[in-house]
Amino acid sequence: MEHRPDIVAVMVGVAVEGPYSYRVPAGMAVVRGSIVAVPLGPRLTLGVVWGPPKDMVAHNRLRDIAMAYDVPPLSEELLKLVEWVARYTLAPPGQVLRAVLRSSEALDTPKPVIAYRRTGRDPEKLTPARLRVLDVLMDEMAWPKAALIGASGVSASVIEGLERAGAVERLEMAAPPIVLPPDPDAAIAKLSPEQQAALAQISALDPHKFGVALLDGVTGGGKTEVFFEAVAETLRAGRQALILLPEIALTHTFLDRFTRRFGTRPAEWHSEMTPVQRGRVWRGVLDGTVRAVVGARSALFLPFRELGMLVLDEEHDGAYKQSEGVNYHARDMAVVRAHLANARVILSSATPSVETRNNANGGRYAHVMLTARFAEAAMPNITTIDMRVDGPEKGQWIAPQLAREVFSAIERGEQALLFLNRRGYAPLTLCRSCGHQYQCPDCSAWMVEHRFRGVLMCHHCGHEVRTPKVCSACGEADALIAVGPGIERVAEEAAARFPDARRVILSSDMGSNAQLRDRFSEIERGEFDLIIGTQLVSKGHHFEKLSVVGVLDADLGLAHGDPRAGEKTFQILTQVAGRAGRASKTGKAFLQTYHPDHPVMRAMVTGDREAFYAHELQAREAGGLPPFGRLAALIVSANEHDVAMNYAKKLLSAAPMAEGVRLFGPADAPIAMVRGRHRVRLLAQSGKDFDLSGYVRFWLASAEKVTGNLRVQVDIDPMSFM
Ligand SMILES: [Zn+2]
Ligand SMILES: [Zn+2]
Repeated sequence: MEHRPDIVAVMVGVAVEGPYSYRVPAGMAVVRGSIVAVPLGPRLTLGVVWGPPKDMVAHNRLRDIAMAYDVPPLSEELLKLVEWVARYTLAPPGQVLRAVLRSSEALDTPKPVIAYRRTGRDPEKLTPARLRVLDVLMDEMAWPKAALIGASGVSASVIEGLERAGAVERLEMAAPPIVLPPDPDAAIAKLSPEQQAALAQISALDPHKFGVALLDGVTGGGKTEVFFEAVAETLRAGRQALILLPEIALTHTFLDRFTRRFGTRPAEWHSEMTPVQRGRVWRGVLDGTVRAVVGARSALFLPFRELGMLVLDEEHDGAYKQSEGVNYHARDMAVVRAHLANARVILSSATPSVETRNNANGGRYAHVMLTARFAEAAMPNITTIDMRVDGPEKGQWIAPQLAREVFSAIERGEQALLFLNRRGYAPLTLCRSCGHQYQCPDCSAWMVEHRFRGVLMCHHCGHEVRTPKVCSACGEADALIAVGPGIERVAEEAAARFPDARRVILSSDMGSNAQLRDRFSEIERGEFDLIIGTQLVSKGHHFEKLSVVGVLDADLGLAHGDPRAGEKTFQILTQVAGRAGRASKTGKAFLQTYHPDHPVMRAMVTGDREAFYAHELQAREAGGLPPFGRLAALIVSANEHDVAMNYAKKLLSAAPMAEGVRLFGPADAPIAMVRGRHRVRLLAQSGKDFDLSGYVRFWLASAEKVTGNLRVQVDIDPMSFM
């Protein structure tokens, strides 16, 4: 095939399987990675030049590239990442590319800023207002117009008058960068000997080659200081750094720490930013003016051209898995990107994922341990409360022993935390008179009462109704009863038991992110005695006065048929228990459980996390589960159950034979209906060295095409089994 340099393949940012051919008009120069706008149907679409065209297309049938943007081309490493993620997740490459190109605002040349400078000539007429402007402009520096107005307190017309009088001149200045470059030497941390040893282990990884370190250390053990110094090394070497956090919108303390260490705020990347801010960060990353980014998982697709280090804080966190659109796991894809970029990765956690621990055990990742708890504080003493023997009275949720401990912590002027990972008032509402149970009309899920807002709400689709006064089935008044506890109900019990304590509820539905950040600050300042919270409180916050933690239902995560249930429960219990006694006091944590002999509970009580990992790895290996095997879920959904089930059965019979692949299902998914769509699940399991993505792609290609409202969603390495 003859390659005509005036024809190129362009990947467009829409869900299509491959690039299209376009003509390069005379006078336009593009290379692989150039960002362009091309006509697609009736409109222009963003795309990226992918290389020479795949097929011969008649020259005269091609359309021209409409424009090439004046920005550096995307790096080869990023284009390869797009292809890799698409191949692995089975998402169309154009859809993955959209995660890279998301910000079109960034592509226009930034508007210059109007600025003013003194000419040296004085105006004939000097008013007080004019004098104030000239005072500000004393040194010969040019001032941006907005800043000049702010500093002199005059209106724009005063400045324009001075310009007409020839006393000041107007200039155009390049727009200032969105953030100043971080200074790797601004405030070098004094590391403890153990932290120094950890940093040395990370520094020993060749900075020009791919390498992964697991930074494994207890909560409060000083991991952040260590990876900041590793980031500083990367910046000194002239490369860019990316730090991913699971809950970026709430981690102002992390941003403050970065600012203290590097002398300037990092560029941020998360959902609370405006499109203009995102555009400026995106462009800065691409043109190299932004050297360090702190972001949520989607920052993984930012157009770095000199990426030298990726840090994933709380690497085990479920928030790193994206489960809409492209189903990728940011931890795994970060490792892929680092491999393509010859960069280093630090995976940081107090409770590493079983996958990562296994890689460290096998020597594929450097295992960097930090065992000393920061500022001499110890992990809390952990005790289980056997709910079968020592549980609370019916209708209550706080066991007597826990209540006593909470009470005495408050008496001593310390803080206590009651934790239940369930939003709302009660998970189930039923009618005392007729037994009617309130279920979402569109999902196979109970309606959860949120008494605070006066609604019943479905946690799967968000459907909500006002909590009815009379039973909607039998019409009986005041007959609805709440079954089981949610966090609001625990708060109600806490109010009755500890009426004098200053109490606060923390749950993601209790306010905006800004309001929640305020609550966290108030807790840090000691303005509350008793914190009642969901998973929101388990992450990354320092509550120095907190000395007693009660987990009201430590079994909550163990109930589902999820192979990662034990791991997730272990992680969240460790995180929550680790909130106690973080600064100087030894804390106490109490786990209310019906299964005190479960390996997770035993590992918590004895503090023997190695026993937990050993047990968990053994169980995974025996079951052929990750990381010893691979899983892929296929969710078939349709408006009617029979349509979904029949298609899933046909899909199963079309499955190619392959050695070592086991197929399960089809069966109704645990949440069998969501938003009115019936869901049927097939699961494929293989050995760890098998290309399961390739197998599923081949399988779907040989199956009957989906028609009508049928959908097949593929989730490679599923993290949720709902
Ligand atoms: Zn009823
Ligand atoms: Zn619903």
